[in-house]
Amino acid sequence: APAENPQVVIDAHGLPYLDAKLPVKKRVADLLSRMSLAEKAGQMTQAERGALTTPGDIASYDLGSLLSGGGSTPTPNTPEAWAKMIDGFQLRAQATRFQIPLIYGVDAVHGHNNLVGATIMPHNIGIGATRDPQVAYEAGKVTAAEVRATGIPWDFAPCLCVTRDERWGRTYESFGEDPALVESMETVIQGLQGAPSGKDLKRNDKVLATAKHFVADGGTEYGSSTTGTYTIDQGITKVTRQELEAVHLAPYQDAVDRGVGTVMPSYSSLDILGDSEGPVKMHADAAMINGVLKDRMGFDGFVISDWQAIDQIPGDYASDVRTSVNAGLDMIMVPYAYKDFHKTLSDEVTAGRISGKRIDDAVSRILTQKFKLGLFEKPYADTSGASAIGSAKHRAVAREAAAESQVLLKNAGGVLPLKKSQKVYVAGSNADDIGNQAGGWTITWQGSSGKITDGTTILEGMRKAGSAVTYSKDASAPTDGHDVGVVVVGETPYAEGIGDVGNGNDLAFSAADRAAVDKVCGAMKCAVLIVSGRPQLVGDQLGDIDALVASWLPGTEGDGVADVLYGKRAFTGQLPLTWPKSEAQLPINVGDASYDPQFPYGWGLTTLTSVPGGGTSALKALAVAAAVAEKAGSETAGRAIVTKARLLVQQKMGQTITAASAKPFADADHLLLTGRYGQAVAKLTAAYRAV
Ligand code: BGC
Repeated sequence: APAENPQVVIDAHGLPYLDAKLPVKKRVADLLSRMSLAEKAGQMTQAERGALTTPGDIASYDLGSLLSGGGSTPTPNTPEAWAKMIDGFQLRAQATRFQIPLIYGVDAVHGHNNLVGATIMPHNIGIGATRDPQVAYEAGKVTAAEVRATGIPWDFAPCLCVTRDERWGRTYESFGEDPALVESMETVIQGLQGAPSGKDLKRNDKVLATAKHFVADGGTEYGSSTTGTYTIDQGITKVTRQELEAVHLAPYQDAVDRGVGTVMPSYSSLDILGDSEGPVKMHADAAMINGVLKDRMGFDGFVISDWQAIDQIPGDYASDVRTSVNAGLDMIMVPYAYKDFHKTLSDEVTAGRISGKRIDDAVSRILTQKFKLGLFEKPYADTSGASAIGSAKHRAVAREAAAESQVLLKNAGGVLPLKKSQKVYVAGSNADDIGNQAGGWTITWQGSSGKITDGTTILEGMRKAGSAVTYSKDASAPTDGHDVGVVVVGETPYAEGIGDVGNGNDLAFSAADRAAVDKVCGAMKCAVLIVSGRPQLVGDQLGDIDALVASWLPGTEGDGVADVLYGKRAFTGQLPLTWPKSEAQLPINVGDASYDPQFPYGWGLTTLTSVPGGGTSALKALAVAAAVAEKAGSETAGRAIVTKARLLVQQKMGQTITAASAKPFADADHLLLTGRYGQAVAKLTAAYRAV
């Protein structure tokens, strides 16, 4: 605790709830039995830290939680300033009758992304491309350590959206289009929280996680939003009950089993086809939140609303409050309206429109997590881990994640990997821009271009890895004399509010990017890297491009991208979603009846020059090993075996990819993700014979 803060005398009142040796359940029951309605309503209220009229409001309204919305950062934006700011708020909470600590939350969706100098991981779409649960786990671990070291015990991540239409602007927050892929990446929850029991939450390097946005945010129908730019990614998901269960709900059962501490509903509405109800706002959906999430799935953490989301429920404010709380929301993110909310909630309870039982359940759930986090014993920041923020060790994890996330879509003539001695001409809007390669939710909410934080750009990484790199952003420098060109194109940052095509954020290359590709690929052998949160349409330029790489939003470690470009590490990433040929094909997902994508789900070449022991005999041996792994339920072994089989087939196949020849990869990928390693190898063996 900072010097000016008084020490909390734990046994001040000698009350049972302060006794850390008692079971959490007993502590919760004891504290709850002593609380007034106003105190309970306060626990259910979350305000934005910058919206407090005065810090004294924390005690006056008995606030249970504060958040920093994206980019709501202290000045200076340093670890010390974060810890000091939050300690100051905690000090106010200590002035309440029962000294109930605040639970402070932020969106750390790819590292501690609000903090300058933190380690920024690839966005989830890139993590999904790695197909490596260990990468997701390690990314969560680093994120948790950096976040908790600044006094923040709660992270609004991970997003478990299963993205089904790339026009949805939050595609980059998804691990992919296959629910099995999303599930396999939920190791990130253990990275963030530790053991499913919650026993690690007290540690100074763990945080409470949030599975979001419940449910089917990734399935919103294009163009179904009602008003304005900022709701375009908050539309309606129209699905059959069967699809809802199999695609969108499945990842949540897994998250509940992994002990995820909180769940955030989606801004979107759900319209179950064949059901007479019509679209229901998720924040008002009692059947889904109370019925499915809590009752059926057994979720015992707490449900936190999304930012101002209850305001979108039809009806007046009292009805918004009543409907959402009765639907099962436990804490409401009312960034600015905390006073109104506190009063309205109390009034609704007094009037009997929300039961006392419901309030007690909500408050119990919140207090349980606060006790588990050890906040009653240690409300103030433990900054002893702060030296690890942005450390070489953490950056190495992000670098590895970035390297594994790169998907080699095409490699004619073996342009990649580059040789150290080659004279390389680098161009394009995203070659030397750390802001663009980090994307949204980086330092500010929507992110921004330029040198916004520490790290290496792709160009900087290439300069370290290669010996002769020339850079010309717009390809205006002379192109002659070079052995090979690398053009890095793609999107500029955004976090939310994008859901359109043709609003300046469409899926085609920008005019400047097109021109750079034309210039460089017209003059020499070239590789094009696409830095983006979702597929970009390559169109008629594909023929002129020798090597094509989906780089996603790799984060602050451009070194990781350089590692695969220069062959320090082989390309092993696989598409986490289907790469379309045209906008007319959207939505397009693996398993569609007429599936004719540019690059299919699961596709990704490797630059491994030789996989030890090629040939059908090697595949036979892999089939035997796969059967053993399957029987033993050994995921790590199963994955390694199937990956090896995949690489063998790809090596033989080389550049002869068509939708038909690539289908076995998508199938094998799905079989792998669902633990059927033997069948996955059988699929790949058949493909091998067919080449
Ligand atoms: C986003 C959430 C986020 C919240 C708090 C909302 O706009 O939809 O994903 O957790 O803001 O920053």
